[in-house]
Amino acid sequence: MSQSPETITRKGGCACGSVTYAVVGKPLFSIYCHCTQCQRADGAAFVASMHYTDSAYSWTYTAENEPDVELLDGMVLYRCKKCRSCAATQFPGNKNWALRATQLERDENGKIINWEGVKPTSHIFYNTRVVDVADDLPKWEGHAGRSTRLD
Ligand SMILES: [Zn+2]
Ligand SMILES: [Zn+2]
Repeated sequence: MSQSPETITRKGGCACGSVTYAVVGKPLFSIYCHCTQCQRADGAAFVASMHYTDSAYSWTYTAENEPDVELLDGMVLYRCKKCRSCAATQFPGNKNWALRATQLERDENGKIINWEGVKPTSHIFYNTRVVDVADDLPKWEGHAGRSTRLD
């Protein structure tokens, strides 16, 4: 039985599974971010990032696994104590959460469950990319819709 996009719950977590989270419904937006902060914080060429309101997001961890808090350019990063992966980023202004879409639960073939619906729809900060991406998604110099569109 398929659930409606508004009520579907997706689960994710850090690399070792000590910190897990759940998000309900569709994200506010979902993007591939090529900014230097994401590149440096994750050591990745770019990051698949889903944004959710505080009310759509909840997480689970035991007292001994409480994530470490790290401040980076006005954002609050929650890093797993054990595997050090960033399980969530929160923006203090609007309390929204940015979550790595690649941390969502997978099926037996390694595919992210319910990927349609959270799949990024644009590339942002494409100007600072370290790899060219040949897809049909819009590519923005900075934030989507608020900067020059490059492609
Ligand atoms: Zn972990
Ligand atoms: Zn970024």
